[in-house]
Amino acid sequence: MLPDSLQREIADKLDASIESATRVSGGSINEAAKLDIEKIGPAFLKWNRTADPDMFEKEVTGLKLLRDAETGLRVPDVILQGTVDGNTGYLLLEFIEDGRPGIQSAQEFGEQLAALHDHHGDSYGLDEDNYIGRLPQSNNRHNDWTNFFIDERMEPQLRMALESGKFRSSITGAFNNMYRELDEIFPEERPSLLHGDLWGGNYFYDTDGGPVIYDPAVYYGHREIELAFTHLFGGFSSAFYEAYDNVLPIEPGFGQRKEIYNLYPLLVHTNLFGGSYARQVEGIVKQFE
Ligand code: ADP
Repeated sequence: MLPDSLQREIADKLDASIESATRVSGGSINEAAKLDIEKIGPAFLKWNRTADPDMFEKEVTGLKLLRDAETGLRVPDVILQGTVDGNTGYLLLEFIEDGRPGIQSAQEFGEQLAALHDHHGDSYGLDEDNYIGRLPQSNNRHNDWTNFFIDERMEPQLRMALESGKFRSSITGAFNNMYRELDEIFPEERPSLLHGDLWGGNYFYDTDGGPVIYDPAVYYGHREIELAFTHLFGGFSSAFYEAYDNVLPIEPGFGQRKEIYNLYPLLVHTNLFGGSYARQVEGIVKQFE
């Protein structure tokens, strides 16, 4: 179950005993459990023995940025974050019960995501790097979205995939051709605050039907990259998209741009899982050969 050192750390830091601990499944990266803690109540614990120990520190920064945006989107409150045994990072959050969406829930979610994207930064990126899944995500600041997309999103993941033999080196030609067209392809947008990893597994509705978002990889980016990712693995309804578009309309042609944005999560998945994701990347960039 939980490492003893982690139980002791939490009990000591909170000066409260852990009354029960139950394993929770579903996370793709970390181990997780629901704890009942004296004086505090239910809490959600994630830990990882092998990931970079600062992974949860970066997650806390992201959760705080999302909370501070005050969009109405529910973001779990952070109770504790730290490291035990030198390399086991952990994050203890408020436990939020998974509920059912009501008739207004998807609409509310779309409007609140638009409200999040209406928070703007001065440039693309963030003051610190963070993680996408367990892979590093570099967030060096750029004034230009195309340069940010190439230097901070495409190139680090493409290099990693080439180094581990996921692609033949000839694929770089197609990427370079694509890079030359990106200024024409991407519509001008100001840098928006993004969740950064918004797929169907990183949100649910609470018992009041309100949307809850978690497990972010926050940065300021082009809002279309976030919307594109919501389409990649499904899980978002038409009411969600209509509500978003009513608040922040999307420029025509998004259907074609979507797959270019999704090269980023597909490259990340290639590096994490390989195989079919690499073939999907090749299918998209082939049109630029
Ligand atoms: P990982 O970082 O390993 O991907 P997640 O943060 O996505 O883990 O959490 C795994 C699962 O646990 C989620 O899919 C969700 O169902 C649930 N979960 C996440 N955060 C909370 C929370 N604060 N309260 C209750 N359940 C949560």
